[in-house]
Amino acid sequence: MSLNPVQSAADYRLSDLIDKCIMAGDLTRDEIVFLLSLEEEDAAQLIAAADEVRKQYCGSGVHIRGLVEFSNTCKNDCLYCGLRRSNKSVHRYRMTPDEIVATAQRLASRGIGTVVLQSGEDLFYKAETIADIIRRIKSSADIAITLSLGERPYKDYKLWKEAGADRYLLRHETSNPELFSKIHPDSTLENRLGCLRELKRLGYQIGAGCMVGFPGQTIDDLASDILLFKELEADMVGIGPFIPHPNTPFKDAPQGSLEMTLKMVALARIVTRDALIPATTATGSIDEFGREKALQAGANVVMPNHTPLDYRIDYEIYPNKRCITEDPEKCGPCLTARILSVGRTVATGPGHSPRYMRRKAGLE
Ligand code: SAH
Repeated sequence: MSLNPVQSAADYRLSDLIDKCIMAGDLTRDEIVFLLSLEEEDAAQLIAAADEVRKQYCGSGVHIRGLVEFSNTCKNDCLYCGLRRSNKSVHRYRMTPDEIVATAQRLASRGIGTVVLQSGEDLFYKAETIADIIRRIKSSADIAITLSLGERPYKDYKLWKEAGADRYLLRHETSNPELFSKIHPDSTLENRLGCLRELKRLGYQIGAGCMVGFPGQTIDDLASDILLFKELEADMVGIGPFIPHPNTPFKDAPQGSLEMTLKMVALARIVTRDALIPATTATGSIDEFGREKALQAGANVVMPNHTPLDYRIDYEIYPNKRCITEDPEKCGPCLTARILSVGRTVATGPGHSPRYMRRKAGLE
């Protein structure tokens, strides 16, 4: 092959790399670092390549997951999170099991195929209490259940799987072990990854993920996050910008950028091919059309907030969260309009991970 004289060497390398992104996605660390460093039109090419991969591997459907944040009480002191235990100005709440079950039933009756039950790390809810909530939802509603309750012992994860839980979201936040320990005084990366592997072994569809742009994080760390999604064979990958919360040690840190977040979403799509990737609320919170932009960069899931309004305002992991006062009744039409506005369709059914379906059929 000869170099086109009007192209610079870097451009030439870029067009080759973009082809590789579309055809195979088996990128090396150096290639990922290079792609994460692209700007403007070059970055737009990366995003277009991810959109093409999404089209080929996932189609046009966008899966809807109803998010229920049932407790904002947390025993941990993560440096970035507004719900950290040291933040004494949070009004703490806990939904009762009856309220949680009724909310999930309401989602199912509106045709939503998945409920995501999320909370701080709140040991007030015993493993058996959560298992009971799962059983009650599963026996009364046709809905998939995703849990996002943080790190718990293997026996709890096992009990919940047996009770009927389908998926588990546990972002690894950063794949740099030193940085992980620095921002999570109560945990280690080793423990977090151990949880994800146990969850996978138990038959959950697993969701890893990271924040983009928090203090101390480098492009090389972000490249490691991308490689980790692949290594973990994550079914779901959640990526959002870091947003500083005023009552945390990171209050003065700059917010993560939309541009870098979109490049991360694009690369996650390119390396995983068919993972479920949400256009996250955090991405929608730093830019009015952040979620639409993520949907055009490889994402294929949205997670509207269905926490009852009285509680929602207090689940402040970061400030200026989107849709904090919207009536859930009005969320559906708004979200559908946003999905249709970027030429996509609303997917129906539980929306299980394609990779998980292949694992179940013994094909992977
Ligand atoms: N306790 C659960 C749920 C945490 S909240 C768990 O540990 O899994 C869900 C996600 O919000 C976190 O995984 C984190 O990535 C994100 N988050 C928390 N604080 C944030 C902030 N200040 N900016 C952006 N994202 C944040």
